[in-house]
Formats: sequence, structure tokens, C-alpha cells
Amino acid sequence: MKHEEKLKNLISKLIATPSTSGHEKELAEIIRDKLNEIGFDKVEIDNYGSVIAIAKGKSDLNILFEGHLDHVPPGNINSWKYPPYNAKIVDDEVYGRGAVDMKGPITSLLIAMEESLKREFEMNIQLAFVVHEETVEGEAIKRILEERRLDKPEVAILIEPTNLNIAIGHRGRSLIKVKLTGKTAHASMPDLGVNAIEAASKFIINLRDKLDTNLPTHPILGKATITPIKIRSQPEGLPQLPDEAEIILDRRMIISEDENSVLKPLTELINELINSREALNGSVEIVEEEVNCWTGASMKVRDFFPAWLMSIEKLESIGIKELMKTMNAKYVIWDFSTDGVYIANSNIKTFGFGPGNWKMAHQPNEKISLRDMDKAVEGYKKILEVLEVKLAN
Ligand SMILES: [Zn+2]
Repeated sequence: MKHEEKLKNLISKLIATPSTSGHEKELAEIIRDKLNEIGFDKVEIDNYGSVIAIAKGKSDLNILFEGHLDHVPPGNINSWKYPPYNAKIVDDEVYGRGAVDMKGPITSLLIAMEESLKREFEMNIQLAFVVHEETVEGEAIKRILEERRLDKPEVAILIEPTNLNIAIGHRGRSLIKVKLTGKTAHASMPDLGVNAIEAASKFIINLRDKLDTNLPTHPILGKATITPIKIRSQPEGLPQLPDEAEIILDRRMIISEDENSVLKPLTELINELINSREALNGSVEIVEEEVNCWTGASMKVRDFFPAWLMSIEKLESIGIKELMKTMNAKYVIWDFSTDGVYIANSNIKTFGFGPGNWKMAHQPNEKISLRDMDKAVEGYKKILEVLEVKLAN
């Protein structure tokens, strides 16, 4: 394996530096220093704590490699064979939280850059490693591009794991808050009130039986889904009948679904409950939240992240076939959501390429193959070469 030692050293350092969402400072500084060492012309950390870098080229064309600094927490430590931040290497595999999502891919990209940037390229090579992708995908990169810290690229490569294949899209994601109100009463006399928990139960059953089964299916992205992920009721004082229940729903969307088409059938389900007097009132809305960044800044976000699917034709115009041939890659669709929700929906030719099996992401005993990472180094170098030729023409 050509890059084995370099890969082992760098991924171990990255995994040993925990960086859950909002706590990416130490990792951001390590990566900033590494980018300076590689010799990028400009390296900076933005207001929200994302790291960006530019290697200037001969023309004013821009490409962007994009990844994220944050990872989900390790969860139950007892489920791990090896401690999550030790980067234990067993044969060909490195274990640790973030190994595949996405410190392995970052490691491969940085080593590819180190080896490639010994010469000047035709285009400007831009890198972004953002904060808070796991919580509010698309938001940090949106701010980088909207604030013009990086120029809008002709091509963007999402370095999430693809098993060395080419990812061309995924379903969108939104979080929806449903509120149902009833009427409180003494729990010894439930007939005097309207129980909001019972209303919520009915709503959830209808959601599954009437709504989810009828959601649209896309021939490539798969089926849209909706499922409850959280529930809360009040008042919490006992023994009282709850007069308010709040349900948070996870909704996965296909292309062309918008806020209106997502919310309308939910309003109809609520109206059915009101008509049958099982609830007195109700409302439905997209969740809005404010996430805190390690710099002290915060980002207000509406949790509606649309689906995307890149046209093969557009990718072929930038030489994707040559890359796929070299990597023996096929087209794949990601199961999960990525920063592509903003980038690919901003009229930028976007695809995903990275080492590792994404089924390992967010799991205990997350791991990545060093051999895959080694191939990804060559893959990222090949992307630079192919784009340089195709963009210049
Ligand atoms: Zn990821």
C-alpha cells in the first residue's frame, strides 16, 4: 500500500480528536495547520468554525472538495469493541467514531492534496470542512458560499463515503412539528376532557396506515417516508389529563416535493381528528432551530433539506466516465442526507466520492479499510487531473 504510513498517522490523529457537532474547535485547528503545511495559498476558519482553503490556479475556474468536521456521539460505550477515540488498527481496518463518517475520507483527501499540489493547476482548488453537518446539513456550506468566502464552483465533490463509487443524489429530509390540543380534566374523570395523548396515538396510527403507505416513490431515489421520532405531552402534573401533545416527525422526500406538499396531508389528518372531536385543535409546521457553534456564533435553521439527483449528462461533461473507469466505480444513491441538499440544489455539478462503507456510519464499532483509503488518495488525484483537462476545454 503506497500511502499506508501517512494514512495511519493522520487518521489516528483525527480520530483521537473528538469533534461532535458544535465542538469541532480542536479538529478545525489541526486541519487548518495541516492545510498550511501542505501549502494552500489561503487557509482560514470562518465565523462559524468551518475550515476553508484555496490553492490558486492559473485560470479563474473553481472546484470544491467538501466535507464535514463533526461526527455523531459514540453512543453506548459498552457496544464498542475498542474505545471510540483510540483509532485501533486491526489488520486492514481502523476503528473509531468518525472513521468512515468522515475522518477517513478527510485523511485520504489531505494526502492527495499534499501529493498533488506540488505543481500549479489550471483551476482554483477550494476545500471546505464544515461544522454542524450532522445536525443541519447544508447550512454551514451555504453560509460559506453566500458570504463569498469561497467562489461558487463549477464542480463540487462531496467526500462522504461511497465505497469508492460515484454518488449522484439522495432523498431530502425534513423535521416536522405536529401539535394536538385537547381539554384537560382530572384523570379520575377522563370523560370530562379530551385526552391529547389519545389524539396523538390516533394521529400516529393514521400517519402509518393512511399517509406513509401512500407516499410517492421515485424510480432512482426510492420511496418517500414519514415516521414519528419524538413525542411529548403536557401538563406533566399528575393525575391530570394532558391537553397538549407534540410529535416530531422525520420526513424523507423525493425530488419535487416542497413544504406545501409535505405539510398539506398532515393538516388533513389533523382535521379528521378535529371533526371526530378526538382533538380540539392542532397545528403543523417545519421545525426551526438554532444551533450553537464552537466560535460562539449560532445558526438559525429551518429543518427542510430538499432531495437532489444529479444528471448523468452533466457529470459526463466533466469527465466522470474516465474517473469511473480508473476507479472501477458505479453510480450509487446515498441512504442518508448530505451537504448536497444545498450544493447540488444551487446549480453546481455535484457528485460524491469517498472511501468506506457508509452502512458503518453512526454505528458502534465504526471502521474503515486502509486499502480503500489508499485507493481514494489516487481517486482524488485522478479527479484533479480529469477536471483540469475537462474544465479547460
Ligand atoms: Zn457524513
